[in-house]
Amino acid sequence: MAFRFHCKTELLAVDPQSPDPAVMRRAGEVLKRGGLVAFPTETVYGLGASALDQGAVRRIFQAKGRPADNPLIIHIAAAEELEWLADDSGGRGRLLAQAFWPGPLTLVLPGRGRVTTAATAGLDSVAVRLPAHPVARALIRAAGVPVAAPSANLSGRPSPTTAAHVWQDLAGRVEMILDAGPAGQGVESTVLDLTVSPPLILRPGGVTREELQRVLGRVDVDPAVLAVQKETDIEQPRSPGMKYRHYAPRAPLYLFEGEAVALRRALRERLATELAAGRRVGVLCREGNQACYEGAVVVPLGRQDRPEQVAAGLYAALRYLDEQAVEIILAEGVPAVGMGLAVANRLRRAAGGNVLEVKN
Ligand code: AMP
Ligand code: MG
Repeated sequence: MAFRFHCKTELLAVDPQSPDPAVMRRAGEVLKRGGLVAFPTETVYGLGASALDQGAVRRIFQAKGRPADNPLIIHIAAAEELEWLADDSGGRGRLLAQAFWPGPLTLVLPGRGRVTTAATAGLDSVAVRLPAHPVARALIRAAGVPVAAPSANLSGRPSPTTAAHVWQDLAGRVEMILDAGPAGQGVESTVLDLTVSPPLILRPGGVTREELQRVLGRVDVDPAVLAVQKETDIEQPRSPGMKYRHYAPRAPLYLFEGEAVALRRALRERLATELAAGRRVGVLCREGNQACYEGAVVVPLGRQDRPEQVAAGLYAALRYLDEQAVEIILAEGVPAVGMGLAVANRLRRAAGGNVLEVKN
């Protein structure tokens, strides 16, 4: 199928628990023919193409404006397919699959050259995931091939957690969007590199380091995950995606980290300065702190001790603040433990270099 930038995009509602088999068959046909289908997963919405079809995978990069050196995750419908795609002779992949699949864990293993090089960006390794969302699984089964899928947003924008977000970014660029309501967790999968020992978290997500360590023993975190630096400073990241400013709203985001009371004070001071300069300011804060930030467009993200709540609403909040045309965003940081590591990573990436460590 030739790439048409202005193709007709079909938006189809499906039941998240038991999607209509006829609709899923049609969506599978689109993928088989080399088309692009956006679909819900338990993390964020993905943009799928047949991982065996070079032309189709190239269209994903074109539709998203994604740099060609940033490889895609290959989504499968059954854990047994891992061995066909990747060399798991160490057995760690199988162990993790038993513990966490289907679910938000992506395993990086030596590849077997089965998927098109456009999907792996020419790397020797391949990233594989078995998603839990019933619609994602039905789609992969209907396609009958592994499905290469990054998040279904324009490159650099916050990942989509609803079909409306996908439509905003990709209408006219993809053949079909399956709408099954909000995606579950709100942040992307954990990416775990199993080509090194000890295994290395390249991107934190829904499966936490603590959970992985219970199965594997020692698991390290790539220093780039919490690095505070402009992505251009990261020269040789293990995960090519780490190079790019990600998850970013249009307005510059300033992230305040530190102890709760001092952090709130520092953020309030900055807010006062910005408001005095006549700027329209957005604030991301924990539930209960809204009243501290009068004069700003305030989005509460959930309880501080529940980072999964923050994760679920984060990307929608960034998109909302863009719609509100704020000129600057001030954000309260979260402790980087458990799911908080994924949230802290996304906030720091959205902030670029603008991370302020608040001292008492
Ligand atoms: P996305 O598809 O937008 O959720 O991003 C996928 C993430 O997985 C990116 O950060 C990629 O760089 C990373 N990734 C995919 N394949 C590999 C691989 N073979 N080795 C390391 N990282 C990978
Ligand atoms: Mg992405």
